[in-house]
Amino acid sequence: MQHWKTLLKASINGPSDLPGHLVRDSAGMARVASVYPMRINPYYLSLIREPGDPLWRQAMPDTRELTDRVCLADPLAEEQLSPVPNLIHRYPDRALFLVHAQCAMYCRFCTRKRMVGTTRMHITADTIRAGLDYLKRTPAIRDVLVSGGDPLLMEDEAIEDILRELRKIPSIEIIRIGTRVPCVLPMRVTKKLASLLKRYHPLYINTHFNHPAEITQAAATACARLADAGIPLGCQTVLLKGVNDDPAIIRTLMQKLLTIRVKPYYLFQGDMTRGTDHFRTPIRHGIDIMRSLIGHTSGLAVPTLAVDLPGGGGKIPLLPEYVQHFTTKLIATNFCGQEFTYLDPTE
Ligand SMILES: *Cc1c(COP(=O)(O)O)cnc(C)c1O
Ligand code: SF4
Repeated sequence: MQHWKTLLKASINGPSDLPGHLVRDSAGMARVASVYPMRINPYYLSLIREPGDPLWRQAMPDTRELTDRVCLADPLAEEQLSPVPNLIHRYPDRALFLVHAQCAMYCRFCTRKRMVGTTRMHITADTIRAGLDYLKRTPAIRDVLVSGGDPLLMEDEAIEDILRELRKIPSIEIIRIGTRVPCVLPMRVTKKLASLLKRYHPLYINTHFNHPAEITQAAATACARLADAGIPLGCQTVLLKGVNDDPAIIRTLMQKLLTIRVKPYYLFQGDMTRGTDHFRTPIRHGIDIMRSLIGHTSGLAVPTLAVDLPGGGGKIPLLPEYVQHFTTKLIATNFCGQEFTYLDPTE
């Protein structure tokens, strides 16, 4: 198996390097890629079968990215919620710390597509230092989500430097890493990386798979290494039109994630990110997909459907309605639509 750095270097950055049968509108693709970068590494490319397939859609530039007039540059108001650059403090006890600007693939639907993989995402030793200082002087933060870009695309030493500094801050209980590497470049998860991460527990990893075809033997090996290092693995899937907006696909994905020891965590409604309008699905559709999961498969396979509210409101869960009536007794329908009653205790 090729080394991850060799694979990364061999990534395709424009339509002219693509195998011809995967190109659609080469000039259009090139125009998009000059605004929002393109990167498809040979591993992920090997999983793409034909134009329009669910993996092709996640990776290939589409001219609709340039004509979106509905969505917003910074839908989650992350810039207003950053006390220092690249650190977002939206919730009382946790923060999002952006430590790397690059990814192993540039997903066309990325929430931070305005900056990920470009010089507009300005991360330096100084911004990382400033983030660590903010975390040090803000002891209310007990959970730090290390993200980017993709933190696991950094060198082992750089990852370890950040983890070591975070672990020096006594108020930080939980470290979480958000990474798409187990899905898009699983060979990056070397034995060495797993044994490095293992030294910084309690450490959680949330990864990001969107389609059952992404769950390969290589992805399973990467996740097994992390799980064997004692790292609980979660998945944050995004609902994407033409990729996975289908109850059967989502059910298979969630069930397959469990087989590679990944617990589905969030199923996200697509953010209102400029350049991604063509991927968004109706809220109602997401709720219907949840209804098709709950009770029909293991609770372990059921993520929380969430929308991250535009304007910086944060994430809220969206649930199908099971409660019919609720005063001193609860009247509810079950997953099959039959009605049941639960009585509250009498005082
Ligand atoms: C999503 C997010 C978190 C983590 O939220 P959880 O619901 O705890 O997973 C933290 N900070 C920011 C800014 C976020 O967007
Ligand atoms: S891996 Fe994550 S951060 Fe990177 S482009 Fe994809 S969605 Fe965006």
